[in-house]
Amino acid sequence: MSLVSDELHETAGLNAEDVRRFGPDPLGLFGRNLAAVEERIERACARAGRARETVRLLPITKTVPAPVLRFAYQAGIRAFGENKIQEAVSKRADLADLAIDWSIVGHLQTNKVKYLTRFAREFHALDSVRLAEMLNARLEREDRSLDVYVQVNTSGEESKYGLQPDGLLPFLESLGPLSRLRPRGLMTLAVFSTDLEKVRPCFERLRELRDTAVRHNAAITELSMGMSNDFEEAIVQGADVVRVGEAIFGKRSTPDGHYWPDATKR
Ligand SMILES: *Cc1c(COP(=O)(O)O)cnc(C)c1O
Repeated sequence: MSLVSDELHETAGLNAEDVRRFGPDPLGLFGRNLAAVEERIERACARAGRARETVRLLPITKTVPAPVLRFAYQAGIRAFGENKIQEAVSKRADLADLAIDWSIVGHLQTNKVKYLTRFAREFHALDSVRLAEMLNARLEREDRSLDVYVQVNTSGEESKYGLQPDGLLPFLESLGPLSRLRPRGLMTLAVFSTDLEKVRPCFERLRELRDTAVRHNAAITELSMGMSNDFEEAIVQGADVVRVGEAIFGKRSTPDGHYWPDATKR
């Protein structure tokens, strides 16, 4: 690597590890990856007979360091999805000068509620009444509101996170009085498999649950489902939001078990 580019990287706040992971030109890399993801979304929409505008891409930025995320912003990304609240809080502080919409897509402990309600626009992992009530109370104090997706466990896997499907309707009832939460839809993590025959039933299940839920709560319209390896199938099954990390930012070195309790089965 030339001295000049070393200097440029230093100016951008990139360290040697960042350059190893994202290459000498993160802006170019993210631009190319985004274009490839966009093409995959368009093809899936065409296959499903859906208009492109009906699918929203939510880039998942976990493990990508803040200085590197400045290149993602430059590449046109304005919505950043993070799994862990601590990581989001720290990056948000580092990127305070950028107009970013932050989403939290991973499990939230009730003692971390106050960090999320200060700045997040969306939360995709709502899965308990207690959490919903605490979020609502805190939002009340901050005079803010929050878009929420209710996480449902559609894989039948022994996972700590997500409501069991038969608990969904009573749960939606309990959201009724919580006026600071704006329910948008349902979210799921499909079974951890590269076999679409195993993944598809999870997406179908979430769609069926939404079709029932929307009759009880008219706000439950959207499906947040599909990740780098399976978002085309999710789109065919009706996804409104696809959460895509590695296809945009490259492979993560942190094992997914750090983010999902049962990811080791993948
Ligand atoms: C990391 C993550 C994603 C994105 O996964 P990729 O395989 O990197 O696309 C989606 N949803 C959640 C909840 C995540 O934590």
